[in-house]
Amino acid sequence: MNERMNNLTFSGHDTVDLASRYGTPLYVMSEDIVAKRISDLKTAFESTGIQYGINYAGKSFTTMAMCRIVDGLGISLDVVSQGEIMTALKAGFDPKRIYFHGSNKQPGEIRYAIEKGIGHIIIDSDYELDLINRIATEMGHEVRVLFRVSPGIEAHTHELIETGTLDSKFGVPLNQAEDTILKTREMPAIQVDGLHCHIGSQVVDEQPFVLAGDAMLGLYKKLVEAGFHLEELNLGGGFGIPYLQGDESFDVLKYIPKMVAHLKKRFAAEGIAMPRITVEPGRYISAEAGVTLYTVGTVKDIPGLRKYVSVDGGMNDNPRPALYGAEYEAFICNGKDDERMEKVTVSGRACENDTLIESVELNAPEAGDILMVTNTGAYNYTMSSNYNRYPRPAVVLLSGDRSGVIVERETNEDVLRYDRIPDWMKGLTSCLTFHLQAC
Ligand code: PLP
Repeated sequence: MNERMNNLTFSGHDTVDLASRYGTPLYVMSEDIVAKRISDLKTAFESTGIQYGINYAGKSFTTMAMCRIVDGLGISLDVVSQGEIMTALKAGFDPKRIYFHGSNKQPGEIRYAIEKGIGHIIIDSDYELDLINRIATEMGHEVRVLFRVSPGIEAHTHELIETGTLDSKFGVPLNQAEDTILKTREMPAIQVDGLHCHIGSQVVDEQPFVLAGDAMLGLYKKLVEAGFHLEELNLGGGFGIPYLQGDESFDVLKYIPKMVAHLKKRFAAEGIAMPRITVEPGRYISAEAGVTLYTVGTVKDIPGLRKYVSVDGGMNDNPRPALYGAEYEAFICNGKDDERMEKVTVSGRACENDTLIESVELNAPEAGDILMVTNTGAYNYTMSSNYNRYPRPAVVLLSGDRSGVIVERETNEDVLRYDRIPDWMKGLTSCLTFHLQAC
């Protein structure tokens, strides 16, 4: 990915040039890498000969340009909010290829999704089934749905990103799902097309998916026997990527055929037609397609303890180290004659101990250097915040030898845009006047 020539390159572009052209901190996304990941997923499924679906999990990185890329590559989209639906529709995404998720969808969002003809709503609970049925009936629409079931599977990943266990806010517990789904027989507005589960993120082999598939098969069979015309089994996302050199990752070309071969055997043994198998990876498609470029500022050496290298971003643009203890690699982008490597801690500029990387070897870091943190394409931009009232960085897309802004850099005025002074404070100019009046 990054050949060391003079300056480091990413997806064929000089990172120092990108930093000077677009400023820092800067998210950089590569369309070529996104396309390669999607192409590998398709190749993996094509080799199995089954009907399949790939839904890109937009929560990992959604912008209008990203929706265009995904649309152009012919795969579907998983969204979790009205905002994500609007982004996709504004980008021209076919609503029929959108799956609407969420563990507590709001009535207004459900109405919006139905009105816009969103292909599938994924029902997350018994409560939500009744809500969606009521809204769809009022609107006189039939909605196609999948049920999200929590299959009780440990994904063996970080507990905060493990979502398929019974003790989870997501999905209908497996042992209650049949009763919930049978209720739809009295609900003409609800057409059940299949089942869904998502066991968690950063899963690095096929085994948890195989276990989840097995767990879902029992329920699937019962429903088919009860007369449901199911056609889809969605096994969710969660394919792990190598954040650090040497990390294990989910090899789609190896594991998808294994998962599918297992499911084919199991469905055949139960005498049920093999459904369309759908997956909805986010991180696998977007994480390695993105890097973040920063400018180094303060370098603080505490002899015998550590050296802090502070950059002009931090937990605002990448909250994952603070949230999950997520680990990243970083590199100095500008080529140097000095080849010295130093072990340092990379910190952000937020008013917190916002450590981005606890320990990393950097090439003689000093103020003014451009630093690149790799694999930041997923859950960085989409999880960013204005903490400390810092504006969010711009996002630049690389495509072949082209580059262009796909999200403008926020300004301080943007951050202030929704602030209001209530009527009773208007006309009062100083704290002193305010307090005198209040007395
Ligand atoms: N599908 C669902 C329902 C999810 O909750 C998530 C992530 O939280 C994903 C897909 C995508 O997961 P990942 O980005 O790890 O592939």
